[in-house]
Amino acid sequence: MSTDATPTDASDAPAPSGPQASEAPWGIVGHDHAVGALRRAVEAGRLAHAYLFTGPPGAGKGALATRLAQALSCDTPAEDSAPCLVCRSCRQVEAGESPDIERIRIGGVCDESGHPDHSGDRSTRIRICQVRRVERVASLAPFRSRRRIFVIDTADDLQTEAAHALLKTLEEPPPTVLLLMLATDGDALLPTIRSRCQEIALRPMPAPALEAALVAHAGIAEHEARELSALAQGRYGLAMRMHADPSLRVLRETAAEEMARLVLADRNERFDAAETLAQRWTRERDSVLATLDTWRGWWRDVLQVTAGLEGGVISESARAASEACAPRDAVLALQAIQRAREHLLANTNAQLVLEVLMLDLPVLAGKEARGLATPAG
Ligand SMILES: [Zn+2]
Ligand SMILES: [Zn+2]
Repeated sequence: MSTDATPTDASDAPAPSGPQASEAPWGIVGHDHAVGALRRAVEAGRLAHAYLFTGPPGAGKGALATRLAQALSCDTPAEDSAPCLVCRSCRQVEAGESPDIERIRIGGVCDESGHPDHSGDRSTRIRICQVRRVERVASLAPFRSRRRIFVIDTADDLQTEAAHALLKTLEEPPPTVLLLMLATDGDALLPTIRSRCQEIALRPMPAPALEAALVAHAGIAEHEARELSALAQGRYGLAMRMHADPSLRVLRETAAEEMARLVLADRNERFDAAETLAQRWTRERDSVLATLDTWRGWWRDVLQVTAGLEGGVISESARAASEACAPRDAVLALQAIQRAREHLLANTNAQLVLEVLMLDLPVLAGKEARGLATPAG
């Protein structure tokens, strides 16, 4: 079980729960359909042996995995199989201390003798030795719960060989095992892995719904809820983490402002930005991923406006940019950011990847883009 030494918003931990949040089923806001499907499966005793929860960081994949684990471990579940969240088992799961649940992430433990601690060796992927440990531990009976649960957090991070090794466990899982795979994008996984899991997609909430949920379930003041909703791109978990940790919010605000500058910047400025980002990648991987994620959100806003689909909360800078570009520019930018993310995760030379990204980003010019030159969020 690995723990994060520093808070990052790339992780997908459950949103804080409390009496107010409990109004939503299982305390999960915005995903009634997903919770309903899992709840019925638990009640009927016909859970699949492997689930794939897909959605962007902060959408609630980790929270859903935690609640499902609690539903299967709870000492005093409600009649509808809702976990109580207060018994010893529920609290152990929440704290990441349940003996029946292992979360497999970058830098986690393995069984190989002679392997130093992967949390200290700058691992950038989930290694094959970590998956071999899953295979071994999966054959052991659970201690207290009905199932031994493995949370692959996230499947995006699996080394190719590790993904192939995991297939073996997915093909012949012991009946007491439940595999929960979390992934940003199901399309990016090996089709053989995806086809062996029951997939549940967690879609972002519409901005007005997220704003209302932050007020209703978390008691956040309306003006802050509106600002968080604009930055969180429909993700309740991400909004709650930014609420709890203002540094995460500053990181995303700064990233949005940076993109508003970059679309007007010349080649030299863009290369400087690539260099700075590449340096950050060597020590603050998660913050770079959060920056790219924010940039995608910014361009999705631009795309929404240029395509005439406006409906949510759009940042002022994205609105200004949309005056100076076509939907195609936004689509190309989104593709370029996605490619850069994939190449960074595949350990391609970061400076090169980011320079290519900077060259691929549209250059906005003309009087329409002037609105961007004034500082705006
Ligand atoms: Zn409980
Ligand atoms: Zn190892």
